[in-house]
Amino acid sequence: MADDPQRSRRLRTRQVRGGLDRSKFCETAEALYLTSGYVYDSAEEAEESFDGRRNRYVYSRFKNPTIRTFEVRLTGMEEGAVDCRATASGMAAVFAALMCMLKTGDRVVSSRALFSSCAYIVADYLPRFGITSVLVDGTDLDQWAAALAVPTAAVFLETPSNPTLQIVDLPKVCELAHQAGALVIVDNVLASPILQHPLTLGADVVCYSATKHIDGQGRTLGGAVLVKDQVWMDEKLAMFLRQTGPALSPFNAWVHLKGLETLDLRMERHCENALAVARFLEAHPAIARVFYPGLPSHPQHELAMRQMSHGGSVIAFEIAVPPPENPRERTYRFLDALRLIDISNNLGDAKSLITHPLTTTHQRLSADEKARQGITEELVRLSVGLEDVADLIEDLGEALTA
Ligand SMILES: *Cc1c(COP(=O)(O)O)cnc(C)c1O
Repeated sequence: MADDPQRSRRLRTRQVRGGLDRSKFCETAEALYLTSGYVYDSAEEAEESFDGRRNRYVYSRFKNPTIRTFEVRLTGMEEGAVDCRATASGMAAVFAALMCMLKTGDRVVSSRALFSSCAYIVADYLPRFGITSVLVDGTDLDQWAAALAVPTAAVFLETPSNPTLQIVDLPKVCELAHQAGALVIVDNVLASPILQHPLTLGADVVCYSATKHIDGQGRTLGGAVLVKDQVWMDEKLAMFLRQTGPALSPFNAWVHLKGLETLDLRMERHCENALAVARFLEAHPAIARVFYPGLPSHPQHELAMRQMSHGGSVIAFEIAVPPPENPRERTYRFLDALRLIDISNNLGDAKSLITHPLTTTHQRLSADEKARQGITEELVRLSVGLEDVADLIEDLGEALTA
């Protein structure tokens, strides 16, 4: 259990004060311990620190006070979590969560609508090590049941998924996974710890890219893995990270931990803005289709609202392309006409960012796979920021009629 005197307090208090461990200087804000090593009073103390008789900081690849404050604070914000380890990026978190437990001969079942680097790990890298990886349509429970009819080591999924915002039924898939003996790892980046609590819905491990909403201002890379089993953390994940070294920089940890202090306020504004933008787009004649879990028109709206408290910050939509216009040219013309919203492939930023997944983030997928996931020429993904929503709607409206 992450030791935290603030743990008994309520969520909003924990996100501001969790993990706070003041130095002898009694600073108000958390100290930034930009140090790789630590000194010992004696050779004997060093020996005891290495053989486990003493529990103290030894080397920042293993543990660092600023990183630990971030980990303890995030643990207090993730319902159902007992501990957390931070990593250098979201991808390091996902890769470590999988690799720390898998071995040759194991089987992994995953939803196919994944962040592109996650798809790369599951479909390309794991098989190189003799790990069987099976991809299913995450929205289809029959496919999950069929794939999980044989013993399986891990289930990996993302919900809502990037970029088309498909929802996976967490309680049902977790139940099927556990019957197959699998541990369930959820990439909860799009929902953030504020909107969805996978560990309380049956998942075993949650991964974050702190780069996204946790930083929330597009500055630093980072990741985190949270668990509900302390033994798994100590024996599998913490050991893997300690020995392989994808450590977060203490400076980045400090930025992320300050980000946590305002995460619920920012998520509230992100969601409020995104819902208003989604409603505007849905009613606009130049738009063919909007994908947003917070809209009743989303095919899984009810499920989304059962497991998430709001629809999130990301919207996907298709531009209407009247023939004989070329779909890509029409879509690019809209993107290039935006004057406020930036063309960028990041998400979860204070600034609204828009991207064309087919030619950027999901470019590497085969044509078949793009079609299967609904990643078309006219699809764009919008990460709605914290600006005045009237300005965002104005910018979108002007660009759509340009
Ligand atoms: C960004 C992202 C990641 C990877 O995080 P990095 O910090 O960029 O390594 C993984 N999953 C999802 C859903 C993401 O959006």
